Amino acid sequence: MVLEVRNLVKRYGNFEAVRGISFSVKKGEVLGLIGENGAGKSTTLKILAGLIKPDGGEVKYFGRDFGEDTKRIIGYLPEIDALYDNMTVSEYLNLFAEIYGVRANIDGLLKRLNLPDKYIAELSKGMKRKVSIARTLLHDPDVLIYDEPTGGLDPTTSLSIAELMRELAERRKIIVFSAHNMYYVERIADKVVVMKGGEVLYSGSLGELIGQNTTYRVDYSFNGRRESVELSEIDELLEFVEKVKEQGGKVLEIEREVPRLENVYFNLIRRKGN
Ligand code: ADP
Repeated sequence: MVLEVRNLVKRYGNFEAVRGISFSVKKGEVLGLIGENGAGKSTTLKILAGLIKPDGGEVKYFGRDFGEDTKRIIGYLPEIDALYDNMTVSEYLNLFAEIYGVRANIDGLLKRLNLPDKYIAELSKGMKRKVSIARTLLHDPDVLIYDEPTGGLDPTTSLSIAELMRELAERRKIIVFSAHNMYYVERIADKVVVMKGGEVLYSGSLGELIGQNTTYRVDYSFNGRRESVELSEIDELLEFVEKVKEQGGKVLEIEREVPRLENVYFNLIRRKGN
């Protein structure tokens, strides 16, 4: 594993904002952090980016503890953009390339992100977000930590950011991001961590989470009377089909119902109480 997070704990005074969370991410994988406001997502991302220190647990990149040089391999996107209105996009990006001490292909970044080289003050919210994203890519980092990259943006801009993130994963980057809009998480994440009150409700593969919640609807009939049942396990389904046949009934249709992440999320949050 390339990013390994184990039993992370963060307290603000007596309040425990993050309560022992663990997950791991490989090169080329995208991990989505989801949870309601106050769940501890931003705190976790700030720890991963080295902005704040945990009170317990460990974060390892490429098998090593977080050190002085770790920040160089990370591109962090804060929840709120920190831009300078009176600079043009290229002036802003050149400034940060200089601060980071790197030669960046700023024209290439503007082109890829479809950004005009205007004064930042003149840009839409979505374009401003893209400038912040461009800033995270200047030093071509191995790891991208994005706090709400698509938060509050229109669907077209959100989709283009989601596509960029997927493209970065294809270039073997590690991406950890938070989002409230499950549509984008579902679209680009390989793994998800569902948080509530600083704790993890689920940590693992997105496919498995969806798979665990997939159900099967069986329409069947006895003496022409149509009935329907919903089953959650394949074994249960096979047994049921067998039983219907044994008892002289007819199986009319079996429909696999793959849930949306949003529904799985609501069920998880509800099941674990308040
Ligand atoms: P999320 O990103 O999931 O909305 P946060 O990580 O921002 O959650 O916050 C988790 C909890 O920690 C919240 O209850 C929040 O009020 C609290 N918190 C966050 N930052 C601070 C801080 N600097 N000082 C005190 N409490 C904080």
